Amino acid sequence: LAQAKLDELRERLGEISDLGRARALLAWDEHTYMPPAGIEPRSEQLATLARIRHERLISDELGRLIDAASAELDSAPYDSDDVSLVRVARRGWEKARRVPADLRAEMTRVSSLAEHAWEDARANSDFGAFLPHLERNVELRRRYADCFEGFEGFEHEYDALLDDFEPGMTTAEVAAVLGDLRDGVQPLIAAIADSGVTVDDSCLYGEYRLAAQEDLAKELVARLPLQEGAWRLDTTVHPFASAISPADLRITTRFDTNYLGTSVWSVLHEAGHAMYENGVPRALWRSPLASPSSLGFHESQSRLWENWVGRSRPYLDQIMPELRDLFPERLGDVDVETIYRAANKVEPSLIRVEADQVTYNLHIILRFELELEIFANRIELRDLPDAWNARMRDYLGVEVPDDANGVLQDVHWADGMFGYFPTYALGNVIAGQLWERITIEIPDVEEHIGRGELVPLRDWLRENLHRHGNKFMPKELIERVVGGRIDVQPYVGQLRKRASEIYGV
Ligand code: ZN
Repeated sequence: LAQAKLDELRERLGEISDLGRARALLAWDEHTYMPPAGIEPRSEQLATLARIRHERLISDELGRLIDAASAELDSAPYDSDDVSLVRVARRGWEKARRVPADLRAEMTRVSSLAEHAWEDARANSDFGAFLPHLERNVELRRRYADCFEGFEGFEHEYDALLDDFEPGMTTAEVAAVLGDLRDGVQPLIAAIADSGVTVDDSCLYGEYRLAAQEDLAKELVARLPLQEGAWRLDTTVHPFASAISPADLRITTRFDTNYLGTSVWSVLHEAGHAMYENGVPRALWRSPLASPSSLGFHESQSRLWENWVGRSRPYLDQIMPELRDLFPERLGDVDVETIYRAANKVEPSLIRVEADQVTYNLHIILRFELELEIFANRIELRDLPDAWNARMRDYLGVEVPDDANGVLQDVHWADGMFGYFPTYALGNVIAGQLWERITIEIPDVEEHIGRGELVPLRDWLRENLHRHGNKFMPKELIERVVGGRIDVQPYVGQLRKRASEIYGV
């Protein structure tokens, strides 16, 4: 069967993919090895690649190729590589073409200025200095959202914003899931506070030699079932994982000489992202199907390895000899139970990225609720600090001392990334559903983990999730993987189970 147009389409999409991955490599380098003086020309290089990639993505020619390739598909099934490729390429093309080039350029320019203003505003805890930038960002995001009027039944401006991170998920659906999540974790946090049990996590703090932490982090990643020769681990300020290709994974972390946790759980988190990319089959490489696009699903993988593997008793038991070896003076006499309890301590706190796995969800829900109010015109932006502080008090019982530790703590709103936060919590929820399936289908998974045998778990994830790449919308994918809709109950149940072990609640 002649599929000349399909082949041509594949080549075009391959070039678009190459441009995106080259950009990712430059960005990785910017955040790891680039000497600081390189920042200005690097920004131009990144912008040039982004522009060329975007011009190709929105070209009339690509649209004609998509149509022509579609005509060659005949009766191939919905989930075949070719039909999926055409479907996903068409959606990306249609979305990209709706946004005028000058609006896109303006959003990039304004958010880059806003990010600098945010850095200063946070350093001085001065929300007023950031406010005009935030106003501009919100205004531009509204114009951006308006470009999608009538697209796939979007009803709310926020639907369009969410769609860039969690395709096909509506505001109403996310609000329902996060509402259930709030109702699930709030009583748990209250019960933990009332339990009177305090967990001593001092074993994780205090001096931890940097060189030994680096050795530990490398060793922990090396023990994961990541393809040999397909990854590296480097140091950065804000950890991330980036796939230059599914066989070229750049995991980054930072080290803290006074805290052991980042070199264990933050590393496992980023490696979990890398394992997802690594599991995409070769047939999907160099195409829009190669990189899983839903941030919620991506986060489900990092959270699963970080929390359900990395903070589990069998895993900690397994790495204990290594820990004692590297830090004899700190951990020589510490038992696994102490580490396990410290790793799963629950305590409300101010800063999202330092929050424990239970209260973390409320940090996200708070931001999501405020974003909804912003885009529904139910709140004035200048009132955000008060609204933030009131919710922190209400949800976590925490008093916010200043805006640097409150509304200004995250970069997302400076970058104009509204709709991004909820994906962190969706990731937790999806990880819970996957973990429930895994414990049913591999009943002895914890024993495997305790013996350091992580391949069966990785293979389950590959077979059930990774191999699909970006073929499906999150809603279709969850249905395929767990046979149902997104549901908070498994996750909330797992949190309760751990809390009951540690806090007796
Ligand atoms: Zn992550």
